[in-house]
Amino acid sequence: MYWEKEIETLDRTGLEALQLKRLKTTLNWTANSPYYGRAFRELGIDPGGVETLADVKKLPMTTKDDLRDQWPYGFLAVSRDELVRMHSSSGTTGRATVVFHTANDIGQWTDIIARSMYMTGMRKSDVFQNMMTYGLFTGGLGFHYGAEKIGALTIPAGAGNSKRQIQLMQDFETTAIHVIPSYALHLMSVFGEMAVDPWKDTKLRIAFLGAEPHSEKMRRKLEDFYGFKAFDSYGLSEMCGPGVAFECPFQNGLHIWEDHFLVEIIDPETLAPVPDGEEGELVLTTLVRDGMPILRYRTKDLTRILPGPCECGRTHRRIERIKGRTDDMMIIKGVNIFPIQIERKLMGIPGVGNNFVIILERAEFTDLMIIKVEVQRETFMGDLRQLEALRRRIVEELKSDILITPRVDLVEPDSLPKSEGKAKRVMDNRKD
Ligand SMILES: [Zn+2]
Repeated sequence: MYWEKEIETLDRTGLEALQLKRLKTTLNWTANSPYYGRAFRELGIDPGGVETLADVKKLPMTTKDDLRDQWPYGFLAVSRDELVRMHSSSGTTGRATVVFHTANDIGQWTDIIARSMYMTGMRKSDVFQNMMTYGLFTGGLGFHYGAEKIGALTIPAGAGNSKRQIQLMQDFETTAIHVIPSYALHLMSVFGEMAVDPWKDTKLRIAFLGAEPHSEKMRRKLEDFYGFKAFDSYGLSEMCGPGVAFECPFQNGLHIWEDHFLVEIIDPETLAPVPDGEEGELVLTTLVRDGMPILRYRTKDLTRILPGPCECGRTHRRIERIKGRTDDMMIIKGVNIFPIQIERKLMGIPGVGNNFVIILERAEFTDLMIIKVEVQRETFMGDLRQLEALRRRIVEELKSDILITPRVDLVEPDSLPKSEGKAKRVMDNRKD
């Protein structure tokens, strides 16, 4: 049931003592990096002066802009000879950032991926098909190493090439996959085209969903279609990549591996800590990283700590599934809206297809939100009154949740642009 029982179930006192010890080591080490060395001197911080975990608040926060400004090597705490790997952020917003790893860093990362996969029930007997992009993106190699560490037969399928993916699943009896949720949704129609029934014609039993926030409704839709149990995976390249937090079999929040990361949740406006249970921005400090330690990194991801212990017996706290990035928030007519709210509603309405896109336009006096929604083929071929009824239902349901009235256009299945990486959900055409 546990990959590393002792560390996964360590009591809070023990876990916090371990965190403090590792934080102290990290700080002494971090002072070697040109960036933090300078920051410590300028701010008068003594890296050896941290006595409690609460002292972390005295340390400077780090942002994506700081990483960009130090391009490419300003955050290194070791010499370049010690490095064995470079990865890069996917550049969701603006220019990408690079992250470097020593052999020890790769080992630590591999451990938490193996621990996470094992937690969901993946074993040596599984056949794991990794449908993420290999390369600079961390979703490929990160999971790959973890799966091999467990001893599972690992198929480095990479992203895209949908028909081949399905063929691989059938030929090699794939039992576990790692996939971006919007791509898994898109793949459903390819299964249809190929007349392959995932319940009958494949052995799929586990899916790791990563790289983009998704709703509970989306998870259930995928589970119903594929017959697997789907687990949410959270990570970011600045920390290592996937494996920072992961769902256990109870699928109720993601255990964040606190022996590797020190967790804070802050108010993104005031930067003050928020109490456990309240939503805010996730801020992380690496505790076991040598090549490029990062202090108090502002992830821009919004979540909260779920109070109370988990039934699985792990003591590492759980974060709620990511609601979105502070960058993804749309402000329309003064209302704050996240794409995931729209996804959640759409996925719960029968007849809605597998893709949608949100377009924001500025009209003369007001902002318009236009949502193009693919419908299922049977619905699209049906009569017009039925389609109009569906359109109205979508408008009403969205309005009750997001408090503004969007314009909804229903479109043919597979007519919206598909992406093999993260889905581009929002097109903001408003000009300031
Ligand atoms: Zn649990």
